Amino acid sequence: MSTSETTAPETRSFEADVARLLHLMVHAVYSDRDVFLRELIANAADACEKLRYEAIARPDLAGSETPRITIALDPEAKRLTVTDNGIGMTEADMIEALGTIARSGTRAFMEGLAAARDGEKAQLIGQFGVGFYSAFMVADQVEVFSRRAGTELAFRWTSDGLGTYSIEPADLAEAPAPGTRVVLHLKDDATQYTERHTVERIVRAQSGHVPVPIALIEKPDAEPGDITDGSALWTRPKSDISAEDYTDFYRSLAGQFDQPALTLHYRAEGKHEYNVLAFVPESRPFDLFDPDRKGRMKLYVRRVFITDEAELLPRYLRFVRGLVDSADLPLNMSREMIQESPLLAAIQKGVANKILSELDKLSNSDADKYAAFWDAFGAVLKEGIYEDYGRRETLLGLARFRSTAAQKDGGNGWRSLKDYVATMRDNQTAIYYATGTDRDRLATSPQIEGFRARGIEVLLLTDPVDSFWAASGVDYDGKPFKSVTQGQTDLGLIEPLEGEQPPEPAAPEAEAFIAYVKERLGEAVSDVRTSERLTTSAACLVASEHGIDRQLERLLSANGQTPHGARPVLELNPRHDLVTGLAALPDDAELKADGAHLLLDEARIADGELPDDARAFADRLARVMAKALA
Ligand code: ADP
Ligand code: MG
Repeated sequence: MSTSETTAPETRSFEADVARLLHLMVHAVYSDRDVFLRELIANAADACEKLRYEAIARPDLAGSETPRITIALDPEAKRLTVTDNGIGMTEADMIEALGTIARSGTRAFMEGLAAARDGEKAQLIGQFGVGFYSAFMVADQVEVFSRRAGTELAFRWTSDGLGTYSIEPADLAEAPAPGTRVVLHLKDDATQYTERHTVERIVRAQSGHVPVPIALIEKPDAEPGDITDGSALWTRPKSDISAEDYTDFYRSLAGQFDQPALTLHYRAEGKHEYNVLAFVPESRPFDLFDPDRKGRMKLYVRRVFITDEAELLPRYLRFVRGLVDSADLPLNMSREMIQESPLLAAIQKGVANKILSELDKLSNSDADKYAAFWDAFGAVLKEGIYEDYGRRETLLGLARFRSTAAQKDGGNGWRSLKDYVATMRDNQTAIYYATGTDRDRLATSPQIEGFRARGIEVLLLTDPVDSFWAASGVDYDGKPFKSVTQGQTDLGLIEPLEGEQPPEPAAPEAEAFIAYVKERLGEAVSDVRTSERLTTSAACLVASEHGIDRQLERLLSANGQTPHGARPVLELNPRHDLVTGLAALPDDAELKADGAHLLLDEARIADGELPDDARAFADRLARVMAKALA
């Protein structure tokens, strides 16, 4: 029986990004091409799980078959086929799923690829799943036959991966009912993928824990033999599971091919019962900072996959991969109802707390491993400091920082707030930090000279998120965070270190000079004053006491938001030769006026900014140099 009309196949072009990706696949000189199989199996398993879920509400969809993935080999025809009895695809699904780059991860991968050097590209393909299109690494022709569950139409998608694909109606007998069959016509150099032993080995190694059974048919008309049984790893006792089992499972689940840095497997009992298997990856996924990136924790109910969009974890834990399998949630709930359920809220809370407490344990037991974790994901975890008030203290405890003290500590250079507080100077009441984009520039910025002279540690914060949480009124152990570029410092009460120049009270000439500079600079600054911050530089800029921090101001104005009243304060070092020298000149000297402006521009440049009026700056500099040469 055929429902297909005799229409000609419709040929379409791939989206430009797909074409680029395909070009890479077709010309892959990539040694580990085996990964294509794990991608096809992952898709087949996803399709089976989607059908299992839809069939809860509509049992007629699934029919009587149990979920199954079958790999069929045909050495003579150089063909490898992966068949599933999952959800299947409509024609529109095929156009969307197999003609565009639908996944944000793949898009981010493409960007990563564009930035990578040639030698690194092959490695990236292996490390991050690139999905269906990887079939073109081993096949010069791919056919996909599919029938969506609940429909009476089958379609055939086909392409040689060279720019176009075509779709036409297919005979119902050609597609599983329902499900998808992917047929790879293997390249001449890829015929090893029709050898039973090779394929079995690859499937066991890469997809051994996929929760759908996988069978192999070694040649046409042979009987299928089971390779894996599709049992759910997370329901087995921990003592039965090896580290390799966990790694394999992590890889098939996360589509990322590093090692898990941390594996959490436990069963919550008591009021609610659920199994958790969660992994912290070793390396950053490409789309970590993609605003559309959702968490990737899967929710199962009694081994039935429900959704991976339940936002099981707070956003700042979005790098965690894994699943929760609940024994209590009803199976027949809609995804929306699940999202609202108090039971889910209890699970969310329990799992997030557990992950944070495991991270804390790791930080105590293996500082270097924890440092590597922090390097990869600290910038994300810090979002929680202002997003999750209830766990703020825990998150501040987990946070690690680079600081002016870290370097001389040996160790791995990371400081905790506990370390910071333990080495605070007498009379020091705040935790001082500097924010910027460049750690080296921060470490040498004039604003922190006075802190150095007094042995006060300054945290050097270079992640964009730092400007936000640090300014959100946080404290740690009762000590407020204070930006070194904001407001008056109260360093006077803290003794300078031995050998450092003690600050002398500013001389009366300095006061007069300050008034002079203020008048000269007018609207460009909100105030001019003497500084306790400076020891070797002549000038620096800071924010006024109640204004916003200068780095935050830069971030906001880069986003087109102009903060109100953000004019900076110019602080001058009254002991500096330049300042005393200029102060001694008569008020009507041209050099004095030029000097006042140049001090401001110099402070701007030290902050990585440009002078307000580049032309005027150049003219003044030229005049001053001409005088020096005269
Ligand atoms: P991903 O699996 O991450 O979404 P892929 O490139 O592997 O990315 O697959 C793209 C899409 O193609 C899938 O999201 C799915 O919609 C569709 N697809 C691929 N294989 C199958 C299949 N066997 N059954 C149903 N849909 C599939
Ligand atoms: Mg996939």
